[in-house]
Amino acid sequence: MTEPSSRGTPDVRAEGPTGDAGAIQRTTRQLLGPVVSPVQAVLGVMFGVALALLCWHLIDAAADDRHAAEHVGRTDSTASLALYTQRESLLLTNRYEQWLLGLKSRRDVQVQRSLLQRRLETQDADGEAAAELTSPAYLAALTSLDTALAATTPGELPAADRDATAARFRPLLTRFEEESTEIAQGTQAEIDEHTREELLGHSRNQTRGAVLFGLVSLLGLLLGTLTLVRIRDAYRRARAQIVSDQLALDRASALERGEADILAGVVRGEAAAALLVDVLDLAEATGGCTFRLVLADHLQLSGVERVIDPRGADDQGTCAAVASWPVGVDVASDLGTLQLMVAGGGPQPEVDDELDRLARRTADHAALVIDRVLAAERLEHRATHDSLTGMPNRSMVLDQIASALVERDSVGGEPPVVVFCDLDRFKLVNDTLGHRSGDRLLRAVARRLESCVRDQDVTIARLGGDEFVALCRGASARRAATRLADSIAAALDPPFVIDGSEVFVAASIGIAHADESVASAEQLLRNADVAMYQAKRDPQLYAVVYDDTLEDELAERLSTDAALRRALNSEGIVVHLQPIFDVDADGGARGVEALVRWERDGALIPPVAFLELAERNGLMPQLGREVIRQSLDVFAAHRRKLGADFSLWINIALVQLRDPAFPAWLAEQLDRAGVPATEVVLELSEGDILEIGEVGASLDALRSSGIRIAMDDFGTGYSSLVRLHALPIDVVKLDRAFIAALADGGERAQSVLEAAVQLADAVGLDMVVEGIETTEELETIRSLGCRFAQGYLLCRPGPADDVLAGLVGAMRVELTGVGSSPPPAG
Ligand code: C2E
Ligand code: MG
Ligand code: MG
Repeated sequence: MTEPSSRGTPDVRAEGPTGDAGAIQRTTRQLLGPVVSPVQAVLGVMFGVALALLCWHLIDAAADDRHAAEHVGRTDSTASLALYTQRESLLLTNRYEQWLLGLKSRRDVQVQRSLLQRRLETQDADGEAAAELTSPAYLAALTSLDTALAATTPGELPAADRDATAARFRPLLTRFEEESTEIAQGTQAEIDEHTREELLGHSRNQTRGAVLFGLVSLLGLLLGTLTLVRIRDAYRRARAQIVSDQLALDRASALERGEADILAGVVRGEAAAALLVDVLDLAEATGGCTFRLVLADHLQLSGVERVIDPRGADDQGTCAAVASWPVGVDVASDLGTLQLMVAGGGPQPEVDDELDRLARRTADHAALVIDRVLAAERLEHRATHDSLTGMPNRSMVLDQIASALVERDSVGGEPPVVVFCDLDRFKLVNDTLGHRSGDRLLRAVARRLESCVRDQDVTIARLGGDEFVALCRGASARRAATRLADSIAAALDPPFVIDGSEVFVAASIGIAHADESVASAEQLLRNADVAMYQAKRDPQLYAVVYDDTLEDELAERLSTDAALRRALNSEGIVVHLQPIFDVDADGGARGVEALVRWERDGALIPPVAFLELAERNGLMPQLGREVIRQSLDVFAAHRRKLGADFSLWINIALVQLRDPAFPAWLAEQLDRAGVPATEVVLELSEGDILEIGEVGASLDALRSSGIRIAMDDFGTGYSSLVRLHALPIDVVKLDRAFIAALADGGERAQSVLEAAVQLADAVGLDMVVEGIETTEELETIRSLGCRFAQGYLLCRPGPADDVLAGLVGAMRVELTGVGSSPPPAG
């Protein structure tokens, strides 16, 4: 098998539908191919040269013709000149003959001689004198005659002299006559020779012209034919290209239409199996190749086979995969493989660019469909499972309870049983170790709870927070529920090790049976919750089975919540104060701590009885604001009489700090009451301080305004002494547990206390020791150098006005004995 493409993130869009549509953007030049071939170019050059030669030849021939015409004219004038010269010469001879016979005088001869002389001086068209046309022999004969004549006497020749003169002149005349006859003949011969040459040249010219013309014609013909052939070929090619482009376009648009249908199917959430078959069918319809899809081993898609092979049924066993492409939404994801199939013995298609593109696109479509199914399954899982522990969530367990109830009612199945489990002390862990550790603990608890389930008919789920619920169904549901409660208690018994700390967790368990009175899943869950609450209230019990009597408890809880809400709106919440003394110096009070009380039906309810409820029901912010307002008002009324270094200590909860508007609101309250920020200390529990990560900004804003922050109940949580210096606090309040440990007598407790005091001192933190109840305790902490203390021994908490008024009167405690007369205890 080959692996034709190594793919990165698929980006089919960039390539056009199958890549064809992109290629269809052709220019005319691309369609027609190269305009001129090398042969054409060579022929063209030759043709040009030949044509130039022909032109040159024609011009040359025309010039020759013109020259010949002129030459003929000139030849004519020369010939006639020679002829006339010959005629005049013969006339002269004739005149001599007549003179010798005595018929003419010497003068007549001389006249004729003058005529000849004039003739000899006549020029032809070329400016050639007639004398030049004669021969030297002629001129010599003429000169001889002239000389002989000059020696004779004028007039007619006397008869006596005639014979002698004739004898003298006859040879001269004969020679002259012969030479004269030669004149025209010589000239004509010359002219004939010239004309012959002219004719020869003309004929050569004609031959050359004919050759050139033939060459030009031949080359022109060749060039023309070649060009025509090329144009025809180009036209055919372009036509074929256009047809194939059109086919490609049709294929591309068919692919796009099919793709759009598949995408619409994906959006509509159609069945994945059918969509994947559509994807493969589309590839086959557009590319004419058969593909099959093999899903990755790790994928388990409900309703989808591992191998999707639309042709599988027809060609079972006769098909072979010849190439493959990975299927995935990105480089990392491995969803499967797309395989190109060829029927046994069939021709193997060439995996060219186009097939590769089609395969990659098909792989992408398949990836899209699979990814959608996975996303839907993830979504479904998320909707029905808890993200922290991976357990089924509230909605899933409610559905399951509901279906179990339907089964109970319809086919008389065994009523389901719900086991509700809430962790004890989880909030403490969460508060002290932080949410991350809290989350880790919850995950660890979830795993232990799951390990308790050994029955298929039991589903365990997380409802939220530290609440878990198990649903037991089937014939042995009751027994399974009781067994499960026991195993949970046992499983949680060994400590958990979270971030290096040992954490002990216990659970309160409520069990509820779905008898006839239970009509809904919510009701069954609520009953189990009520039972669990009962278990929580009684430290001796870890599990309680729901019965009707527990309803009273629930009613009580609900009425408490309603009453607290009413109290908040109708001055039912009051603030008591407990002073903090400087036991190191003069025993004077250095501040008062505001402690909330609920006046209900004439009784004062302590905060432990309602703070948790207030927190659970979201009343904490309102309660906190009420305490701050009241304590600031009463403090403002007395502060001037209490001295400059006297401060108001207010307990606040983390939830108050979570409100980003809290610092500004507090500043407004301080302003309204006229209390400087420097006279206020906010107490946050150790756990809350450790969670400051999320409220750090608010804490910084408060501290920069001058307010001090105290860590309350130090020692109850999990913060270590060595971390003290890193926390954004000014004061540490040592929990009463430290002092109680002293009473138990250990030297160890004393040395821990000593170390804590020294460390706080070393890092520049003030320390307040809480819960001093006996003089011994007071003496111990004083001996250890503790400066500030609080406790029933020194002064019990009491109504704000009373305590402040009392402090104004007697500002210090008797350090050697019982404290200042305590106001009535809260
Ligand atoms: P805390 O802030 O540590 O307050 C000290 C608690 O110890 C008070 O209980 C006080 O009455 C009690 N106490 C004082 N001296 C002694 C002593 O010598 N021996 C013993 N056994 N107890 C002593 P209280 O008033 O019941 O408050 C309990 C807790 O409720 C407080 O502990 C504080 O964490 C919380 N709380 C009280 N008022 C408020 C409030 O307004 N807002 C918030 N967020 N929490 C408050
Ligand atoms: Mg406090
Ligand atoms: Mg405290």
